[in-house]
Amino acid sequence: MVIRESVPLAPLTTLGVGGPARFFVEAQEADHVCQAVGWARERRLPVFVLGGGSNLVVSDAGFPGLVLQPGIRGISSRKEGARIFFTVGAGEDWDAFVGHAVSCNCAGIECLSGIPGTAGAAPVQNIGAYGQEAGSVIDRVDALEIVTGARTTLDSRRCAFGYRQSIFNTGEAGRWVILQVTFTLQPEGAPLVAYKDLQEHFGSSQPTLAEVREAVRQIRNRKGMLLVEGEEDARSAGSFFKNPVLTTRQYSALQRLLRERGDPAIPAYPAGDSLHKISAAWLIEQAGFAKGYARGRVGISRKHALALVNLGGATAAEVMALKSEIQSTVRRRFGIDLHPEPILLGFEETHG
Ligand code: NAP
Repeated sequence: MVIRESVPLAPLTTLGVGGPARFFVEAQEADHVCQAVGWARERRLPVFVLGGGSNLVVSDAGFPGLVLQPGIRGISSRKEGARIFFTVGAGEDWDAFVGHAVSCNCAGIECLSGIPGTAGAAPVQNIGAYGQEAGSVIDRVDALEIVTGARTTLDSRRCAFGYRQSIFNTGEAGRWVILQVTFTLQPEGAPLVAYKDLQEHFGSSQPTLAEVREAVRQIRNRKGMLLVEGEEDARSAGSFFKNPVLTTRQYSALQRLLRERGDPAIPAYPAGDSLHKISAAWLIEQAGFAKGYARGRVGISRKHALALVNLGGATAAEVMALKSEIQSTVRRRFGIDLHPEPILLGFEETHG
């Protein structure tokens, strides 16, 4: 285990902005994770756990503690009754694991194809797409507690998965290093074709798991949401804002406002108990930020209004200035607060 000093973080993120980590370590084994957090504890340094860097904005000042990247590899599987359990090292590439599950003809995560990042990061924001969520197929998470160095197993209920959230990015953010994740998938299960994009792709045909995986990758690529070499619109942190979830009262007020102004109706979907999920991308575009909008070295993806892109040589401050401009314009125009989805690392002020 080698702890390096002053390691630039920008190249370790998909957005490519920000300063260095004061200390950096890649831990290939759980024991190395334990040693590394012990090392930081002795020096009273904060620890930040880095996955694939695809949902992260690092400040220009960087991070004044230890950045720990778990590189734990390995996928094992075990059949139990009608289910198969896959235990996946935190450092495994997420999309490679989805490919593996699909090649084993197991359903449950095929719609999560092409999401960048590691398997260990999947539970943190409960990644989801096209009607599937990692949290609904996670059986348990093996984790190490940073302050004590103790290892424990957290079952899925304990992880408290919600829309793009879990204990790992809310009440217990910064408490755990995820070592491995166990998923329970459905052998020979049918793929999910629930969203319009996929339904339009397949029409009335009955696709296989592998065909749905390929279609999701193609759709993501079309929207600049697939990391492919040379794809300038993918130099982003993915979706920069969460899709707002409104109460019925807030949603009715918004609909009224749009009607009064003669604006088009906003796409909305039921989100459980009298809640309505609305499209952040729609709000951004209707607020006047078209796809391809540029503001110096930062801009909005030409393919998806939800992604802020680094057009080349951008700073974190420039990204955050565009973020604030979009937030305040959407708030002024629609009375809706947009909240950032990526983790914001090393910023002094709070960026809600
Ligand atoms: P989209 O498909 O245009 O959907 C926009 C919004 O409408 C999302 O809030 C989506 O909900 C909702 N929606 C669309 N069809 C729906 C349906 N049939 N039932 C319920 N809700 C529906 O979104 P996009 O930006 O192009 O992204 C495609 C998918 O990738 C979405 O599911 C999105 O959430 C997902 N994605 C996830 C992440 C992440 O996990 N960090 C990052 C980028 C994109 P949902 O958000 O609940 O799907």
